[in-house]
Amino acid sequence: MTQPSQPVGDTYDVVVVGGGVAGAAIALQLALEDLNVVVLEARSSEAPVPGSWVLTPFAVSELSRLGVDLGPNVPGRQLTGVRVLSHGAVVPLSFDTPGEARTVTRGFLLRELSAAAVAAGASWRWSSNVDGPVLDDGIVVGVSVGSDEICGETFVVADGALSHFGRALGTSRRRTRPQALVAVATVDDPNPIQGGDAWLDLAIDLRERFDLPVPGLGWVVPVANGRLDVGVGVLNTFRDSDSVSITDVLHRWRADAPGATDTTINVAIGTDIGRIPLGDGVWPRTGPNWLAIGDAVAMTSPLNGAGVAAALSTARLATDAIKNSIQNNDGLAIRQYEQALDDHLGDELRVARLVGRVLTEPRVTNVVTRAAAWSDASLARAVQLAVATDESEGRGRLQRLVSQIARLTPEPPEHH
Ligand SMILES: Cc1cc2nc3c(=O)[nH]c(=O)nc-3n(C[C@H](O)[C@H](O)[C@H](O)COP(=O)(O)OP(=O)(O)OC[C@H]3O[C@@H](n4cnc5c(N)ncnc54)[C@H](O)[C@@H]3O)c2cc1C
Repeated sequence: MTQPSQPVGDTYDVVVVGGGVAGAAIALQLALEDLNVVVLEARSSEAPVPGSWVLTPFAVSELSRLGVDLGPNVPGRQLTGVRVLSHGAVVPLSFDTPGEARTVTRGFLLRELSAAAVAAGASWRWSSNVDGPVLDDGIVVGVSVGSDEICGETFVVADGALSHFGRALGTSRRRTRPQALVAVATVDDPNPIQGGDAWLDLAIDLRERFDLPVPGLGWVVPVANGRLDVGVGVLNTFRDSDSVSITDVLHRWRADAPGATDTTINVAIGTDIGRIPLGDGVWPRTGPNWLAIGDAVAMTSPLNGAGVAAALSTARLATDAIKNSIQNNDGLAIRQYEQALDDHLGDELRVARLVGRVLTEPRVTNVVTRAAAWSDASLARAVQLAVATDESEGRGRLQRLVSQIARLTPEPPEHH
C-alpha cells in the first residue's frame, strides 16, 4: 500500500481489479454505459484456463442478457435436467428448454466475456498483477502494478476468493459464514453420448471415508470433449470439518457415483481444488469509492455453490450503483449497492445464514438428507431451489423448513 500520493498514471472512470467472470461482466456493462473502464488481470492472455463450469438457468439467462449466447456448438453440454440421488432414490427433473442450464469450458466463457468487454470499449490489460491500492488521505486514488500507477474515480474489487486487493482495502471474511471446499476431477466419459441426454447427477448425501455424512453436494456432469466432471463441494463450517479431507470425500464419491463401476472414472485427466466463499461472507462490501463483486464479496448461495451466477448478479447490481454514482456525481450512490445486495439476494442470504448454522451440524445433515429422501416432492423442491432462476414458491417453503430446524440450534455471535 502506497500513501499518500497524487494521481500520476493513466486515469479511468472505473478501475476493475481482476478479469474473471465478475470483472469482465462489470467492465462490459460499464463500457456500454460509455464509462471509461479498465480491467487489470494478472493472467497473461495466452495462459490456459483448464476446467469447466456448470451454469444454472439464471447464469445462462444473465449471460444472454449480456449478449453472450451459448448455443449448442459451444464447448460444453446443454443439460436435459437434474437427477437428484439420495439414499438410493433417483428423482429426475427435466428443464423446460434445451440449453436452459449447461456446462461450458472456463476458457471459452472467459474469452467470450473479455472479448465482449473490449468490443464494448473497455480497456483490458493482461499480465497486470495489482500490488495494492494507492491512497490519498484514506481514499483510493489508484492502484500499483509494478512501477505503474493506474488511477481512477471508482474501484471494483473482483480479484476472487482470496481477494488480496480487497483485504488491503479492509475487507475480511466473516468466520461464521461457510465456504465450500470444492474438488473436481475430469475423467473420460465411459459412455459418451453426443447431443441427446446430458444430466447433472447431484447427490445430497455425501459421506467421508469413515461413512459419516458431510454437508455438501456431489455431482457428475458431462463436459466438453467426451468427458465428465466428477465433483464434491463441502461446507467448511461444520463441527468436524478440520478432520475431513476434501480429496478423501472426492475419492469416496468417485467410488459411489453413477458410472463408478467403469474404470475410467477413477483415472483423472485433471483435478481442480479450491474454495467458494459463500453466504454474504465478506465485510465490508463497499467503501467510499469502491465496491466488491463476485467471489471477493462472497454472495454465492451455500445451497448450490453457483459462483458464476453470483458473480454475474453482483456485477449487474454494482453496475447500477457505479453508473448512478458517476453520472450524478453522487459518492453516496455506491452505498446503494449494499441495499441492492440485500434486496435482491436477501432471501437467499437468510437461507444461507440458516444453512451456515444448521445444516453444518453432521447430526442435522443426516436427518435433513434422510427427510429429503422421504418424498420426491421435497427433493423436487430442493432442486428447484438449487437451480432456481429467481424467487419461487419452493424457496419460500424450504426457507420455512430450514427456519423450523434453525430454532433447534443457537445462533453463534456475529463478528464483523
Ligand atoms: C474447483 C471449483 C469448481 C467450481 N465449479 C463451479 C461451477 O461448476 N459452477 C459455478 O457457478 N461456479 C463454480 N465455482 C465457483 C466459480 O468458479 C467462482 O465463484 C467464480 O469463478 C467467481 O468469479 P470471480 O470473477 O469473482 O473470481 P475469479 O474467477 O477467481 O476471478 C478473479 C480474477 O482476478 C484475477 N486476480 C486475482 N488477483 C489479482 C490481482 N492482484 N491483480 C490482478 N488480477 C488479479 C485472477 O487472475 C482471476 O482471473 C467453482 C469453484 C471452484 C474452486
